[in-house]
Amino acid sequence: MKRISILGSTGSIGLSTLSVAESFPERFQVIALAAGKNLETAFEQARRWKPRVISIAAEAHAETLSDRLKQAGLSEIEVVYGTAGTIRVATHPEADFVVSAIVGVGGLEATYAAVKAGKTLGIANKECLVAAGELITAEARKHGKPLLPIDSEHNAVHQCLRGGRMNEVERVWLTASGGPFLDTPSSQFHLITVAQALNHPTWKMGKRITIDSATLMNKGFEVIEACRLFELPPASISVLVHPQSTIHSMVEFVDGSILAQFSLTDMRLPILYALTYPERIQSDMRFHVNDLRHLDFRPPDMDKFPCLRLAYEAAEAGGAKTVALNAADEVAVAAFLEGSIHFDEIPGIIEDAVRASNTGALQSIAEVLEADAEARRYTRKRISKTLESRTTSV
Ligand code: MG
Repeated sequence: MKRISILGSTGSIGLSTLSVAESFPERFQVIALAAGKNLETAFEQARRWKPRVISIAAEAHAETLSDRLKQAGLSEIEVVYGTAGTIRVATHPEADFVVSAIVGVGGLEATYAAVKAGKTLGIANKECLVAAGELITAEARKHGKPLLPIDSEHNAVHQCLRGGRMNEVERVWLTASGGPFLDTPSSQFHLITVAQALNHPTWKMGKRITIDSATLMNKGFEVIEACRLFELPPASISVLVHPQSTIHSMVEFVDGSILAQFSLTDMRLPILYALTYPERIQSDMRFHVNDLRHLDFRPPDMDKFPCLRLAYEAAEAGGAKTVALNAADEVAVAAFLEGSIHFDEIPGIIEDAVRASNTGALQSIAEVLEADAEARRYTRKRISKTLESRTTSV
């Protein structure tokens, strides 16, 4: 029986993880849950899974949740909140596997705490690896614990890497669906609406990652994620646009052999792989090979999608530059989602923020969070300036 804690239980990956746990009740026990802002879902999850501890984001929700659990006769479930609450879930002594699925750097401290506490980590939170991948992977190595990627591409790479030794790897090929604007001329990018950007062709995901997929920043983050997870330089990670998203990624070895992983586009599969690694267990997620007709591939257009280029540059520089890349993107995407900036303004804003950020490695999570806050301040100011110039020019 694997005892799991989930950071981000009410998000898309959290829900899929619970669905996997539901399908294999004899294998998984849910020990602790860290929910987000959704009080109702948090309550339902606590009632269904009866974890030892549940954490909720807002302090104001904690009391309500606690009262409702008492009324439901579940007063033994401890209710905690905020960052301290998430850390408590991440380091619960009874948990041996932690799923890190909080979107953004909000999950960073808890994710790092889990690795530091010697937990095996299933990592879906790519922002943690973008901002603090060097620190997290060093800590995991120190404890001799694997970091199991849940991001579908990295999960695929992890599977393919089992076909050879690390020093036999020539190149990692990360596939990209290309997002909803693959064939939209860049001259029309100015007119892209939030609804269009949220309409991803192959994957159903949270809002931020869906916008990041539309700008290709998500793929850029995944390049950095791959560099950190597999300790490879950016030059040995290539992105390949593959609109069907059937092949989740590939590894090319020095002898010229290329191993690819393909399966259903269903996040429950990488989650199941991470949760049961190094075993594989029987599932009903079948891919019908007979239905396969054609697979298309083409190189990405970095002029049309500058975010991918920015990510390669930040990956090369490392440290504070990748922190700024992630922070600026989060702020810019939020501004786009609330309708204050245009889709085609996102890359320029991020580029300025990364350029303005410090260089050099960061030594601690506190330093990462400081650099993150600094980049956010800069980006907000940069966006305000954009908005001001727009009102004055009207
Ligand atoms: Mg991915």
